[in-house]
Amino acid sequence: MTVETVLPQIYLDANATTPVLEQAADAALVTMKTMFGNPSSSHITGLQAKQLMEHTRQKARAVLGSGHGRVIFTSGATEGIQTGILSALCEAKKKIQPNKKYTLLYGATEHKAVPESLKHWNQILEINADVKAIPVDGAGNLDLAFIANEVPNALMICTMAVNNETGVYQDLNKLEEVIRKHNSDIFWMVDCVQALGKRSLNLARTTIDYAPFSGHKLYAPKGIGFVYIRETAPFTPFIAGGGQESGLRSGTENLPGLAALSVIFDELLKENDSQFASVDKLHNFRNQLTQTLKDAFPTIVFNNQFSNSVPTTLNFAIPGFSSKEIMDLFDAANIRVSSGSACSSKVTRSFVLDAMGLPAWQSESAIRLSFGPATTQTEIDAACERILHCAQALGHSCLMQAANGVNNKEALDGLVQFKVGGACCWLFADKQSKTAIIIDPLPELVERLNTILECQQLTLLAALDTHGHADHESSRTALTLPKQTCDHLGWPTQTTQIEFKGQPLEALAIGHYRLAKLATPGHTEDSVTFMLLEQQQGEYTIRYVFCGDLILMGALGRTNFSTSSSKAMMHSIQLLAQLIESDTLLCPSHDYNNEFATTLAAECNRNLLLNSVLQHDIAVDIFVEKKAQIDKNIVDEAGSEIMCGATVCTKNQFELHEYTTKELNAHIANNESVLLIDIREPHEYALNHDRAFDQNVPLTRLTDFICKHSQDKSKELVLVCRSGSRSQAAAQALARLGFHNIGHLKGGYALIPSA
Ligand code: PLP
Repeated sequence: MTVETVLPQIYLDANATTPVLEQAADAALVTMKTMFGNPSSSHITGLQAKQLMEHTRQKARAVLGSGHGRVIFTSGATEGIQTGILSALCEAKKKIQPNKKYTLLYGATEHKAVPESLKHWNQILEINADVKAIPVDGAGNLDLAFIANEVPNALMICTMAVNNETGVYQDLNKLEEVIRKHNSDIFWMVDCVQALGKRSLNLARTTIDYAPFSGHKLYAPKGIGFVYIRETAPFTPFIAGGGQESGLRSGTENLPGLAALSVIFDELLKENDSQFASVDKLHNFRNQLTQTLKDAFPTIVFNNQFSNSVPTTLNFAIPGFSSKEIMDLFDAANIRVSSGSACSSKVTRSFVLDAMGLPAWQSESAIRLSFGPATTQTEIDAACERILHCAQALGHSCLMQAANGVNNKEALDGLVQFKVGGACCWLFADKQSKTAIIIDPLPELVERLNTILECQQLTLLAALDTHGHADHESSRTALTLPKQTCDHLGWPTQTTQIEFKGQPLEALAIGHYRLAKLATPGHTEDSVTFMLLEQQQGEYTIRYVFCGDLILMGALGRTNFSTSSSKAMMHSIQLLAQLIESDTLLCPSHDYNNEFATTLAAECNRNLLLNSVLQHDIAVDIFVEKKAQIDKNIVDEAGSEIMCGATVCTKNQFELHEYTTKELNAHIANNESVLLIDIREPHEYALNHDRAFDQNVPLTRLTDFICKHSQDKSKELVLVCRSGSRSQAAAQALARLGFHNIGHLKGGYALIPSA
């Protein structure tokens, strides 16, 4: 067998970059081979090169309507932005009056290149102006009243023609009216990168001073761009040197890039038979995609208003799904979209959507789907078909109600782990009795859990908390539960009594399983541990221990809350250890380091304090002292997660076999006994996988897999996922829990060229 992707790629991330148009690539290649001259050379090869460059400039002028303005070729828009800002600020600096405070204005939804360059040159040139963001409204429109108020005191204003995340375009005429009415001299730059080919531009008819453009956003290669400079606008070269571009931008010109750009301009200038679709056609594409998305995901919310955005950009969020989940789903279907958010912090969210004041969940789960004018009807049809398959796959794995109400799904049996940030929630389903229990339900998961229960036709017997959580509200009551009286942690008052290892315990029946409760105070006074016991011929075998924040991966739960007691925690650990085995799976309510689950044996290897508690070779007062010391290190980030335990030991790195695709294929061919496991979620797996995979074990089911395979830890397992990161995390967890023949595909599917 071989490991390879199955479906051809559908690329819908044109706002990030576009493929190079075939004719443009051909032109670049021909130029490299036959017209490789330096435009500054005076021989024939040089003159030919120069002619190509000047022809391209003429076409650029025609496309932009540049009149007497200048068009200079650059490496891309970021350079064009520097050129505009540097030129404007060098001139503005001459007019600055001492002791007067000035501002530099930019739109709040601008590409980062703009505010960052403004701040940079403001500092380098020692202008020391206030760099201020112009707010936008919910539709992404710049606040004209703010501009009117601020512009008299501003040295420069930077706005954008079309936003790269939302496709929102500004009314440049209205903007110009306000800007010029209140400051006729201010330098005005308009980032036109995303407008080329989508909005008509007639720059010389405006008072825009600088307008940067980028080739790779419209089917030319990366490394070529251009900037328009109004006839009357000041200019300072950003790159000095050999005097190319009439001394305005030195450096030998990128002739192959220019040849490609020339082809793009031809397409833009064609009245008929252009490879670029008409605006009407692009609107039809958007309508078709929108309808399909609505059919596929009925609860979808669009983050951009269509009345003021170019038809080539759709920005949406699907309630209940993070952008990472939708990205993974689409990637599995070989559809490339973008998460529409900057991954600059732990929480991925979009500063553009935040600036528009959209609800946090929309910003956190934003997906950007963008296409270009060269997109064809065939591609849109294929994308729509694939999007419907994505939704079906979600229905199939019960993450969404299938649109037609029929979920052709496999019955859920065993343990599922859900995570939100570092917090875990566990669902245990018994296929035979069609019943389930949920431990530590998280508010973000309510919809998902209810959908799974309904889709799987499972009766939820109880939703339980292991303690009153400090970091979140319990969402037990929002789950579909039978009417029954319970204590404050959701434990029903009507339970049975069992005896396990001589200990009388209250228990709940889940088919032939029993969930037994053990009071384990410490982290909080009310902390309990639930033990899942399987009843076989009158004997109980322990399967899982839901220990809340008693023992965490690499840590013990914190004991510095008002109701905490480290002394009680020590006793609770010792009591629990009497009832479970050293390799019983501990399923805590936090997993800060992506380690899934643990065992006492695995923890004792790295947590010396826990080890000494279990060995009974530490006095209570010493434990209390050491624990207090550790808890001092817990830093709760303001407004962020409350850490429930300080990690006391670094994550061990276990030795794994790391395969390249070639090595793995060879290895599998020679070793029939290798179990090849796809580690992606079932909906991703269902969309695109090589049928020769032996098994699909998503991360949500990894602990279940570990439990079911704990008798055979020597079998060779090789894990595979999209990028290699999930398979690596899972392989490390397996190795830590005693599986000693584990490998994974380094780099994942992503490094295999797609068909
Ligand atoms: N401005 C906008 C609106 C963009 O979308 C981009 C690219 O993402 C840039 C500027 C930077 O362009 P370049 O990659 O050519 O430097």
